[in-house]
Amino acid sequence: MAILHGSEALIPTRPMNSDPDGAWTQSSLAGALSSRARFSIAKPVELSGVGLHSGKPCRVRFAPAKAGHGLVFILRNAQSPLPSGETDGSEIAIDEAGVDAHIRHLTPSNLCTALDAGDGRVVRLVEHALAALAGLGVDDAEIRVDGPELPILDGSAAPFCDAILRAGLVKTGERRRYLRVLRPIEVRAPALTPDGPERVAQLLPREECGLDLDLEIDFADAAIGRQSVHFTLEREAFVNEISFARTFGFAHEVEALREAGLARGGSLDNAVVVADGEVLNPEGLRHADEFVRHKLLDAIGDLALAGGPIWGSYRASQPGHALNGALLRALLSDSDNWAWELAPETTE
Ligand SMILES: [Zn+2]
Repeated sequence: MAILHGSEALIPTRPMNSDPDGAWTQSSLAGALSSRARFSIAKPVELSGVGLHSGKPCRVRFAPAKAGHGLVFILRNAQSPLPSGETDGSEIAIDEAGVDAHIRHLTPSNLCTALDAGDGRVVRLVEHALAALAGLGVDDAEIRVDGPELPILDGSAAPFCDAILRAGLVKTGERRRYLRVLRPIEVRAPALTPDGPERVAQLLPREECGLDLDLEIDFADAAIGRQSVHFTLEREAFVNEISFARTFGFAHEVEALREAGLARGGSLDNAVVVADGEVLNPEGLRHADEFVRHKLLDAIGDLALAGGPIWGSYRASQPGHALNGALLRALLSDSDNWAWELAPETTE
């Protein structure tokens, strides 16, 4: 497997999209996500690969959608081919089910984030694609999934970012709306191991428009140890510093996961595997603190289930998908905790 270092592999060296008006090019990739405008993608783009847990072939197609549509997954029967034509982001065929990327559709799932369409169909492993969409500041898109989960690809969000940037980003003509945190919210969970650190996640009000994240992890295995990262969500920084970080696991857990019917598609091609202080992947790590960067990527994907970009500060120690889900639920449980707010006039 090739080693991607974000800045070398992911920043386009030429304009990525020459046809649609207003599509992003290299020069306009930079910028904070306190953008005034809502964004969609310029044209459909498709990715396929194996499912991490099912081991089955899975496909995902990102398609443009109108302003206000939000991020919506369209789940298809496994037998149905994906449509070949363009869509306007609003058509759902009879054999499909639509489910908003929203916390109210979150359903318990082992080791990943899953959404329930309400008709028995569940889509798993949505978090890396959602991280790519949120990291690139995409507000409105249709995400058609063919299979029980999104393809794991290389275990990071880089292939999703790469594909979406190849399609191009376009302004949809409306002002972006933020979910602004008004009161501090905190959730806690017991430590993962008897002598491990307590798990805490918080969302705090923030003066400036946008989202910043402070995250730390502390694992007994010396290959990971204690790592922390601070990040302010911006397009270019997300692509270059976060998107490439791969999911990780421990070799001693792999057998148990397989016995539970999980990680059937898992391999050293789509995950960093750690055993007794060593990284088993022959190519090593993509960054010395790839582990905590992946946890940050997961948090950005999980927070995308708020229903819009968050204006606030996220702080977490030893977070996971369940803790992030509990945090969002706690935030949204009381309408005094948050408010919709349009991007400030001062933003570009
Ligand atoms: Zn992940």
